[in-house]
Amino acid sequence: MTQLAPPAIESADIRWHDGIPESRTFGDVYFNRDNGLEETRHVFIRPNELARRFARVADGAAFVIGETGFGTGLNFLAAWQEWRRANPPPCARLHFVSVERYPLQREDLHRALALWPELADLAEELVAQYPPLVRGAHRMRLDNGRVRLTLFFGDVLDAWQELEFNADAWFLDGFAPALNPSMWPDEAMEQIRRHSKREATLATFTSVGRVRRALENCGFQMHKAGGFGRKRDMLVGSLPPDPGPAPRNDVPQPKGIAIIGAGIAGCLLARNLAERGVPVTLIDAAEQPGAGASGNLQGALYVKLGVEFNAQTQLALSGLLFSQRYYASLPEPLSESLSESPSGSCWHRTGLFQMAHNEQERQRQQRFLERNQYPADIVEPVDAGAATDLTGIETEHSGLWFHNSGWLQPAALCRDLIRPPGITTLFSNPVESLARNGNQWFIATQRQTVSAAQAVICGGHHSPALIPVDSQHGHFRFKPIRGQVTHLPDHVVKAPRAVICGPRYINPTCDGVAVTGATFDLHNASPEMNEASHRENIDELHDMLPAIWLDQAPGPDQHLSGRVGFRCTTHDYQPAAGALAAVPGADLRDLFLLTGLGSKGLTYAPLLAEYLADTLTGEPACLPRSLIKRVRPERCFRPMAQEKVS
Ligand code: SAM
Repeated sequence: MTQLAPPAIESADIRWHDGIPESRTFGDVYFNRDNGLEETRHVFIRPNELARRFARVADGAAFVIGETGFGTGLNFLAAWQEWRRANPPPCARLHFVSVERYPLQREDLHRALALWPELADLAEELVAQYPPLVRGAHRMRLDNGRVRLTLFFGDVLDAWQELEFNADAWFLDGFAPALNPSMWPDEAMEQIRRHSKREATLATFTSVGRVRRALENCGFQMHKAGGFGRKRDMLVGSLPPDPGPAPRNDVPQPKGIAIIGAGIAGCLLARNLAERGVPVTLIDAAEQPGAGASGNLQGALYVKLGVEFNAQTQLALSGLLFSQRYYASLPEPLSESLSESPSGSCWHRTGLFQMAHNEQERQRQQRFLERNQYPADIVEPVDAGAATDLTGIETEHSGLWFHNSGWLQPAALCRDLIRPPGITTLFSNPVESLARNGNQWFIATQRQTVSAAQAVICGGHHSPALIPVDSQHGHFRFKPIRGQVTHLPDHVVKAPRAVICGPRYINPTCDGVAVTGATFDLHNASPEMNEASHRENIDELHDMLPAIWLDQAPGPDQHLSGRVGFRCTTHDYQPAAGALAAVPGADLRDLFLLTGLGSKGLTYAPLLAEYLADTLTGEPACLPRSLIKRVRPERCFRPMAQEKVS
């Protein structure tokens, strides 16, 4: 067995026997040779009474299934099909949380699922969204977000340690206990109990006494039932109505949430919550969404993956993969505003070239490639010739190629995201203060006061001023960083076919303009554009990509347009997403924060909006605990006492 470097994970070793997949590692079949789909229904779907229970799920509520052993995804698709048959209300959601130690390669998944013509459309959607084989938690939004799959690539015990969820029903799959004891230790059963809601049910193909006893010891009432095909027995179980303390994340459906800030973070969160049936009021001082840092004509989906595969790199990678899936799944064209635009859709998957523009960056990329193993559908090294072919602009630098990345039109996207019903918008409403009274937040704007049981601040660099913390207790360590972009008309630059990133980025042209930038001005607070910033952008772009000009770089006499925005960064350059409650000296219960995205807003915001929506609705979290810890807003708070000492 070859030792893989992170974040790669060993894939399933499949042997196809008469067209049916078998695991060479475990010497067992993934499903019954005679009729795997009927087996799934007999063993998992019916004993958990899913048809009856799905039909009772209220609008805005969620049903959660946990599974051990994702394998080919057959059980998942069968549950999804049953969910569709039950025709639940429009804002009800099915969550499926599963774990897989040896994920199938996409081609094997496709081949295995092709065995079930009646599941073809669901299989196609799953295969299209199936993540690259890298360790950790992956969230997929399927069926327009009505079905959400959280798939953890790793060992079962790590998954149940890392994931936050409570299941209504369980499918215990995972090869026979005798062939695969790693799936069935007592500790795994205890974790299943810990992740179960009251009256949770479970079903498993095995009838092994040790498994039954372990589940009984954890509080499940177990009984035998007739197995499928030649198997005599299987096990079915349930938790009694009151097995002890209520599960922690039984959160009531939110009645209404106020979001302050209609940039990319606020708009994505508003859309996400509205799709879950939560009424949202979106408030912004500007006349329209995407008026701040999210308002640029173009933005690239770009992260710099760290040389070390630590939590920071994992967060960047999760954000990148989720946002690529998210933008790719948006309907095209999204809105009238875009269908009118010659460029069509918001999202352009052109690929992205990260240039090794100097010796230091070349060595950094070399170390990155030596220490890590990324699947080529995430990132792969390219030499200067390949980079020239891929981007269409001659370069003498090698670099990294992100095949599934690209660029989008952030302001247009913001406008489009908030169109659906369920989102009330209050533009031209500068927020003056937030105050908590009783169980409500009161948000005073220049024109009116809005009250909501929960509020989320997505105010970019305005966020610290909005958090009602008395400065004598301390402050939040956020800082605004000015960024000016320059618009280069297509009679000045050649149009690259892909995004090119180095000390500056340049995008393919959109409606006759390519955006380049941005400056990184720590000590300039001016919202006005200036010539020096344009010059800086052009000089840096010229240094990294001299072949970009059709003739020559624009001179100082040439009038250039552009835009100024302010990124919001934190002291550790990591985003902040979550509840503010634990800040000393202030009652910030039910107040949440989503900001600090720096220049990576387009990459981080979809995943963090999904996470925050999960938290607000008490649904399974898309982020594992280690990353939840990483983005906790409290880490950005600096108490006054500490300030005096240092
Ligand atoms: N439910 C699957 C389906 O619908 O195709 C079939 C599951 S198959 C019988 C069992 C799966 O459990 C295999 O894909 C195997 O790689 C996975 N597995 C085995 N041991 C594991 C472990 N310790 N942690 C996580 N997954 C494991």
